[in-house]
Amino acid sequence: MEMLINGNLVDKDEKIDVNNPANSRVIDTVPQGSREDVKNAIMAANRSKKILQEMSARKISRILYDIYEDVLMSSDDLAELITLETGKTIRDSRGEMKRSALTIQLAAEEAKRIYGETVPMDAGIGGRTALGFTIKIPLGVVGAITPFNYPVNLAIHKIAPAIAAKNAVVFKPSQKAPLAALKLAQIMDSHLPNGVLNAVTGKGSVVGDELVTNNLLDKISFTGSIPTGVSISKKAGMKKLTMELGGNDPLIVLDDANIEKAVAAAVKGAYMNAGQVCIGVKRIILQEGIADEFIDRFVEQTEKLKVGDPMSPETDVGPLIDEEAALKIEKTIEEASNQGATILCGGKRKGAFYAPTVLENINSRMKIVQEETFGPVAPLITVKDLDEAIAVANDTKYGLQAGLFTDSMKNALKAIKLIESGGVMINRQPTFRTDNMPFGGFKMSGMGKEGVKYAVEDMTRTKLVVF
Ligand code: NAP
Repeated sequence: MEMLINGNLVDKDEKIDVNNPANSRVIDTVPQGSREDVKNAIMAANRSKKILQEMSARKISRILYDIYEDVLMSSDDLAELITLETGKTIRDSRGEMKRSALTIQLAAEEAKRIYGETVPMDAGIGGRTALGFTIKIPLGVVGAITPFNYPVNLAIHKIAPAIAAKNAVVFKPSQKAPLAALKLAQIMDSHLPNGVLNAVTGKGSVVGDELVTNNLLDKISFTGSIPTGVSISKKAGMKKLTMELGGNDPLIVLDDANIEKAVAAAVKGAYMNAGQVCIGVKRIILQEGIADEFIDRFVEQTEKLKVGDPMSPETDVGPLIDEEAALKIEKTIEEASNQGATILCGGKRKGAFYAPTVLENINSRMKIVQEETFGPVAPLITVKDLDEAIAVANDTKYGLQAGLFTDSMKNALKAIKLIESGGVMINRQPTFRTDNMPFGGFKMSGMGKEGVKYAVEDMTRTKLVVF
């Protein structure tokens, strides 16, 4: 598949293979983009931003509604492509496409709701005769960089709000899963003036780095791992930044919780997309009164999961993104096991597949609970009470989302206040997101919020006018 620069499909002699992780076969190739390609895309975006800025909000909203209709019609094909290139189960890929279409629709609505505000100038010295108000203006050109795990919806969370706020975009998808994202870019481009949306494939260290360091860009909106996010923020200079980074989300289950619902939520949160979800359940913290019952039921439900061909609608857990990722999980589990962790089920790898795995006898210094484990692994930690549960939940550099199961309002309110994360879900797994809610982590998990209204706000700057 080709990349997209200034409305043209661009190919290169040098290619990147895109593999199906379920069987290691090459599905397709994409061009190995260069710094020159990125510069061409940035120049095209800078030329076209003026056309967008002269359009009415009504017209831009109409374009986004048309894109929404088109993406909806292509949803089945895009879902298949996501499954082929990422190994995500077809059920989850269809879910991603449903959400993707809705994210575009939300942006079409938001394009008509970009407001400034009046300023009470007379509250300041010398302002009595002044009339002041703000207007929200576009940034110009936005660089969007995305990871492999939700290749379409995460791209839309950047591209659609950027366009809603009248910005041109240069987009770099992950080289591990660029196909559905490129197809999406082509669909969107067919409704937009040439150059408003450009998509350049290639290495993060080349294509991504050029975006981050090029001074003709006004913002970088990045979703990916903490090390990449930190390196981008050091290099980006005065560009505006949004950072949606990794998570190590806790799910706390207290003695007064509904165990059946908590177990179902834990299974969903820990193993969805083979555990490759930023808001996946990465640590399960159990109060001692319910721990034994929870563990028995959780292991039983984990063992029932069907691991296999992601294209089959019956499959619950597919492969990881590649064998290297599965080997990394194998090594982390081996290390934990050498340090005293007990494997209650799973613990086996075959190619890029890793069996859903439950671990107990975890201590707080193990890598498996200190770092983000991006795989189908559930470490269990037993605690005395809510205070200890909150201390364990916060004992990490991450702070994306958290979940708590309890029947007590008092416990819920205490946890909401004390847990250090961007979102707290009560009686739900942290693996919960609607595409309009403010989404983004605290601590090393990120900076800024996405969720269409919040992303649109971040895609503008504020200009003050005084009469
Ligand atoms: P990653 O390795 O950080 O890559 C993310 C993107 O950054 C890719 O497109 C990558 O390019 C690019 N990149 C790499 N080096 C770069 C550089 N020096 N400059 C600019 N761009 C560069 O992350 P991943 O493994 O794809 O995704 C998994 C991570 O994303 C996990 O940590 C997960 O928690 C996080 N995530 C966070 C959210 C959220 O909303 N908070 C959502 C989803 C995922 P190439 O890989 O193509 O070289």
